[in-house]
Amino acid sequence: MAIEITKIRELLSFVNHPETGKDLISLGLVHDIKIDGNKVEITLLFKRVNDPFTNSIKKAIEKTIKDSFGNDCEVLIYANHNKKPQNPEYDSLKEIKNIIAISSGKGGVGKSTVSTNLAVSLAMQGYKVGLLDADCYGPSIPTMFGSQNMQPQATRIEQKDFIIPLERFGVKIQSIGFYVKPDNALVWRGPMATNALKQLITQTLWGELDYLLIDLPPGTGDIHLTLVQEIALTGALVVSTPQQVALLDVMKGIAMFQSEKINVPVLGIIENMSWFTPKEMPENKYFLFGKKGCQELSEKLSLPILAKIPLFEGLSEDSDEGTPGALEVESPVGIAYKELAQSIVSIIKERNELLPPTQRVIIQTK
Ligand code: ADP
Repeated sequence: MAIEITKIRELLSFVNHPETGKDLISLGLVHDIKIDGNKVEITLLFKRVNDPFTNSIKKAIEKTIKDSFGNDCEVLIYANHNKKPQNPEYDSLKEIKNIIAISSGKGGVGKSTVSTNLAVSLAMQGYKVGLLDADCYGPSIPTMFGSQNMQPQATRIEQKDFIIPLERFGVKIQSIGFYVKPDNALVWRGPMATNALKQLITQTLWGELDYLLIDLPPGTGDIHLTLVQEIALTGALVVSTPQQVALLDVMKGIAMFQSEKINVPVLGIIENMSWFTPKEMPENKYFLFGKKGCQELSEKLSLPILAKIPLFEGLSEDSDEGTPGALEVESPVGIAYKELAQSIVSIIKERNELLPPTQRVIIQTK
């Protein structure tokens, strides 16, 4: 019988930590599994230094695997510990079922518009939704939600400060834009922006959420790397227009998420501005950026196109006025986003059934 990661995970879900009586998978102790023919390498990530049960757990794992696959298989088990102190942030993130990053190869393709309208549409379908604006260099979420002049309230829990996210149209929102003027954010240097993002992540009281969407800055950079170290992302979505130049940048972004070290599943592509249909000629479709669109990219990378969203007249104005188009459920924008939301709900469900939870990226320090 060929050794498969899913089978090993299943076996590990029957190995319990002697102290808690809970299995290794539920406890989140299994950081990585690699299989090479008959060789199984498992990396465990203990929550404390020198867990006294490390050796007995290692023995139990080896026995379970050999009982299933025979004594010929080689089982290597590495035990690391989580060097990061347990911060209060993780309590707040713990109640979030799915965390999805929304990225794009370049700016101006509609990533924030998609994030906003998708969040609103999910909330209107009854899901508990949060939206974190991680575009620390150019935050636009406060404007798109018409809340640029508002400020979230702070609260203290066990001597630590937390921020209660604002709630608009049923979506909990958080953005650096609430605390600095957008012009100031633009001149930030890397460490300032990444520190600000860390603070937003660790100090926001999200509560219980079905989906937390994270609107990333365009391209790849330090914000992306900070995020994958701070948060275990369920997956990433990529927004692109059909233009060829945009597609090349998109490939770089996808390669980053899929790289061995980062290993965040890319769930699919959202094609935005696919065509334009004038209101007075609803039968006509004008493919302003070409008809081929993201199809080639989708085939090359074996990623589904989750939706094709046309250019909507008036959507820009709606965004500027802080009334996301998806609020009007029966409008063409509302319908397009309802369909997108439904396909995203099902692709996430599928991902959770097929793949193990993502692990935060751990940068090894000596
Ligand atoms: P990004 O976040 O990728 O930089 P934005 O979401 O800010 O891009 O969108 C750029 C501009 O394009 C905005 O003015 C936005 O209102 C507009 N826009 C985005 N998607 C659409 C669409 N499908 N139809 C019409 N306008 C759109």
